Amino acid sequence: MRIVLMGMPGVGKGTQAVQLRDHLAVAHVSTGDILREAVKAGSDLGRQVKGVLEAGALVPDQLMGNLIGERLRQEDAREGFILDGFPRTVDQVAILDGVLERLGVALDAAILLEAPEELVVERLSGRRVCPKCGAVYHVAARPPKSAGTCDGCGTALVQRPDDTEKVIRDRLDVYRKQTHPIAEAYESRGLLRRFDGTGTPQAIFERLKTGLEQA
Ligand code: AMP
Repeated sequence: MRIVLMGMPGVGKGTQAVQLRDHLAVAHVSTGDILREAVKAGSDLGRQVKGVLEAGALVPDQLMGNLIGERLRQEDAREGFILDGFPRTVDQVAILDGVLERLGVALDAAILLEAPEELVVERLSGRRVCPKCGAVYHVAARPPKSAGTCDGCGTALVQRPDDTEKVIRDRLDVYRKQTHPIAEAYESRGLLRRFDGTGTPQAIFERLKTGLEQA
């Protein structure tokens, strides 16, 4: 299956994408993860995008187009993929169309996870991540056994620089203005599937699984 996973920052796309990846045996392509890795590695790409990520703004479409074109050509994406964080603008929808056409494949569904804005602000501002192994925690909903320390590898947990309340509000603003119209674009093609993104990660996953099986 070839799926685009959409929704506000903090709605649980990353968590669901990992579960769906295992369930469907397809590649999980998170553009946010790719960019954060590049920043961490200090590559050319990382240096170009560091400031943009910290501000919660969007990386230019052309740069994202090159990145996604290259990523979807890789072997592990041949049988299918879940795109998490791309496309994020209407122009990126057209870029993705071009990439998929060149690969001779088509999207099966565009999933929109929906939740109230206050819920995602609460989820994001409490999120803590392990900079070493990538494990994700929440100070209230999923706290580590020992405060501030990763259960898996013992590394000190950090807050993503774009998970502070001011930047979260900016990211939600960007979402409303630039990303929401994408859902409309896929809706007009009959590809959009809306899912309730409230409740536990497991409850959301069950909804997704059932919904996709019925498709
Ligand atoms: P995410 O982890 O998906 O919330 O992405 C983190 C940050 O990476 C975003 O706030 C943007 O700065 C950047 N980013 C990720 N995906 C894209 C994209 N498709 N287009 C532009 N910027 C992106």
